[in-house]
Amino acid sequence: MSGTLFIVATPIGNLDDLTIRTRSAIESANFVLAEDTRVTIKLLNHFGLKKHMVSCHEHNEADRLEALRQAAEAGHTVALLSDAGTPLISDPGYQIVREAIALGMTVIPLPGPSAFLLALVGSGLPCDKFVFEGFLPDKLSAQKARLEELRTESRTLIFYVSPHKLVKNLTALSEVFGDRQICLARELTKLHEEFVRGTISFMLKKYATEEIRGEFVLVVAGLPESDESVQVTEDEVRVAIRAEFDAGRSVKDVSALLADQFHWKKSDVYRLALDEQTTLTKNEH
Ligand code: SAM
Repeated sequence: MSGTLFIVATPIGNLDDLTIRTRSAIESANFVLAEDTRVTIKLLNHFGLKKHMVSCHEHNEADRLEALRQAAEAGHTVALLSDAGTPLISDPGYQIVREAIALGMTVIPLPGPSAFLLALVGSGLPCDKFVFEGFLPDKLSAQKARLEELRTESRTLIFYVSPHKLVKNLTALSEVFGDRQICLARELTKLHEEFVRGTISFMLKKYATEEIRGEFVLVVAGLPESDESVQVTEDEVRVAIRAEFDAGRSVKDVSALLADQFHWKKSDVYRLALDEQTTLTKNEH
């Protein structure tokens, strides 16, 4: 006996998005692992489904592994559901899936909505390669550090953002990435679904005075692969530094100028500029 685990994607707004297959899978389950039973009961009631539910959220997921073990032993079927969208995508379920695999259960993910994928394909930004980042860290320093790591990413980037953090996230994005094309995909599958497309600076201006309501996903253009900043090597930056020294510029001015030009961190250019300056001074003696 090893049982089955269905990973069930549920609607993110429009209940018509629940598929016939999803409904059958829930019906066939011995019980449902639900992120929040108060949310899932509404969905089950809407579809006339009566199911035993066990809560499974980020604070008790580890405690639910025992229930999964017992289900596997009995050859039972378990359905894993988030409040909305696909479980595990910025939602609980990773430990459950890992354990199900370890227990030899048959793991069946069911197709259904996930906000990030709808946002991406509707954004008008390249979809051939992309990076899903989920939520940025809350603390501003950690947020900026993460963005720094992503600054030269050429693939389209996707973030989940809470409405009250939009302006803070956009400001950090503008400081680290400069201005770029972005898309805010708001209230997906709902009555007021909207795609707002434009630059970061346009959005900052727009939402400085306008309150953004509902749920949304932020899609950000990657840095073009052909951009000099991606391809420029340390040697090339050194050559540029020497040229600027020849033009009489100081280490500080050179660092600011070239960091901007090559989209490098100012501190990295500064380090190279100091090194070049030391070499020049040595050679002069
Ligand atoms: N597991 C979910 C999924 O597959 O999309 C995501 C859960 S995460 C906790 C919630 C975030 O998803 C929201 O803060 C928002 O960024 C995004 N989201 C969920 N529903 C959405 C919707 N209808 N429209 C836009 N964004 C949505």
